[in-house]
Order: sequence, then C-alpha cells, then structure tokens
Amino acid sequence: MRLFLVSVSIALAACHSVPSDWVSGTVYLVAVGSPSEVEMMRAEQILGLLTQRPVKRMPSRQLVPAEEHPHCPSKAPCYDAGEILDDLLRDPPTDTFRIVGVTEAPMSAAVARDSIAFARHHERALLYTTASFKQLNASSAHDRTRQILSHELGHTFGAEHCRGPCVMQPRLTEHATIRACPLHRKHMVEGLLQSIDSGSFLAAVGRERSRLGRWDEAIDAYRRALLRSPNVVEVETALAVALMARGRYLEARDVLDRASYYSPRSPLPFYARAGLYASQSAPARAAAHLESGVNRDPNASHAHRFAGVLYQDVLRDDDAAIYHYRLHLSVGGRDPEVLGRLAMLLAPTTLVFTEPEVVVVQYDNEAGLFWAHAGWGE
Ligand SMILES: [Zn+2]
Ligand SMILES: [Zn+2]
Repeated sequence: MRLFLVSVSIALAACHSVPSDWVSGTVYLVAVGSPSEVEMMRAEQILGLLTQRPVKRMPSRQLVPAEEHPHCPSKAPCYDAGEILDDLLRDPPTDTFRIVGVTEAPMSAAVARDSIAFARHHERALLYTTASFKQLNASSAHDRTRQILSHELGHTFGAEHCRGPCVMQPRLTEHATIRACPLHRKHMVEGLLQSIDSGSFLAAVGRERSRLGRWDEAIDAYRRALLRSPNVVEVETALAVALMARGRYLEARDVLDRASYYSPRSPLPFYARAGLYASQSAPARAAAHLESGVNRDPNASHAHRFAGVLYQDVLRDDDAAIYHYRLHLSVGGRDPEVLGRLAMLLAPTTLVFTEPEVVVVQYDNEAGLFWAHAGWGE
C-alpha cells in the first residue's frame, strides 16, 4: 500500500499539468447505526490518506429496520447493503466526491450473503461493516479498514475483481495484499485524479441519479457534463432517456438529432428514438429507427438480441422478434434468454426445465440443436 500511496501522491503532485478548474470535492463519512467512534476516526484518517481530499462527517443515519431479504443469511437479521447504499445517496452535498457509510450491523447484498462491504461501479457511495472486526487487534483492524476502503473505492472507479495478488481480489483474507496490480493501480490513480467538475465525473453522476430515478438531477448532471465535454454520444443518449422519463419528448428528440448529427455512425440515438416512438404509439417509426440502430451496431449479436426483445416486449411483433433472435444465433450469439424466448415463440414444448441448477433449451432448426445453461447453481 505504501508503494500505491506513493504513486498516487506523485500523480497528485503532478497536478500542475491538469486544468486549473480541477475541483477535488469532499469525501463524506456517515455512521449508519452505531459503529464505534474508534472506527469512524480510523476511516476518517485512512480516507484522507487514500483520497488526498478533505473528509467531513455527516449526521449519522438510522439503520432501516432489519427485514428478511431473499439473500439474507438464514438466522441472524441482516440489513440490505443496496438499500443502505441508496439511502447514502439520497441527497448528497453538491461537492461530493465519495460518500462512505460505516456500520456495525451485519448486512447482505444480492451478490453476496454476509457482505463485508458494498459499492456500485461508477457510483459515489461505498459502505462497509465492522461486524467481522470483533477479534481483531487495533493494528489488524487498521489494515482491514484500509483494505476494504481501497477495494471499494476501486469498485467506485469501475474496477472489477482481480485474480492476482491485488487489493481488488474478491476475498478478504488475513494476508490479503494491500497493493494494487498494475492494471488496478492505473484504475486507482485515474479515479483519484478525477475532478468532480469534469465531464466524465458528471456523466457518472448522471447515471447514478438516473438509476435512482432522480431524473431532474440526472438531466442537470448530464447537461453539465456536456458543457464540459460536448458531443459525447453516450452522454447525449443518456440525457435524452432521462428527458423522456420526465415526458420531455421534444427536448429529447432535439438532443438525439444533435447526437446523430455529430456521431452519425452511433446506433445509440437510433435505439433511443426507437424507444421514444414506441412510447408514443408510433410502432412503424420505432421499428425504422430500431433497424437503423442495428445496422450501425458493431456488436451484431448484442444488437439482434436487443432488437428481438424490443420487438417482442414493446412493439408486440413476434415475427420481427423471431427474425432478430435467429440473426443473433447466426452471428454466433448464444444468449440463454434469446434461446429461451425463441424456443417459446417457435414451439413452447421444446423448453425443458431441469431443476434446480440448469435450464436446458432444445432448439431444433436447420442449424441443429442448441443447449443453453442458465446456471443459477454456479
Ligand atoms: Zn469487491
Ligand atoms: Zn488487480
């Protein structure tokens, strides 16, 4: 970790080269429930070191009443990590770089029972529990907090788990390394160097607010992102989707037309327009834009899957859906959902469920027999 911190500090020291409008933002620290004051001070100190930013405390938050979640460990009551994370993001201060929740309560997440920590990619909140800290002495607890915070910050910077000896390895063990592998060190350095006023940071804020259904905040963040970095077609499309969610169709169309003008090869504005016309009961126009999107999409397998689902679920055109599902197969796609949907559309009797681990789909076309394993047992 020392090496990592040195490299980050060097990178931060080189900030002369970054634009003068670089804004560091603040790391906010929140007690969720009643974590110990010792842990809060530890987190405060480590976060200051790791992020090289001011760390401020926010008023503590109540734990939402323990409930049984489908993914809870069976006996003890536990708290839903995803819900707590969303609660941390309810009304973040405008200068938020990250919001860190600390709790002592056991928690679980959809992806893992008995979670120690949780964060979503490219979102600003992270959370950990000290429930597993009981046997640790002060020095080990310090190491564990440092490991967890580095790891979860990595996730918020978009890092996936890592096989190597790396702070992003998925399991927390006593001897887990606190260094990052070269790939993830790069992730960390770039994440820590972000200005909260940059186009990419604001675009991520827009996605975060969209996921939470806070459309007006998302629209504001996307618009500010586009002022900093104009003509980013992904951001323009996301802005249009947020505008549509608020019923602002004319504005959405303007944004999409402009996006297509500057990025004529991108399928994204066409997909969004397909959604727009579908929601306005104009299926023919929706289909035309959908096909234009598919024709531009470099990922044919994904494009035909997407088109098939949209035809089947939204435009209620099963023949067109079958046509695109077949094309998905012909370009090498073997998405289990596509196989399942195609089998259902063609002949429901060919769908075989083998409980509990596997769904097997037999699909007999001139191309042959396909087997799809949708493993919830893996
Ligand atoms: Zn992780
Ligand atoms: Zn790694």
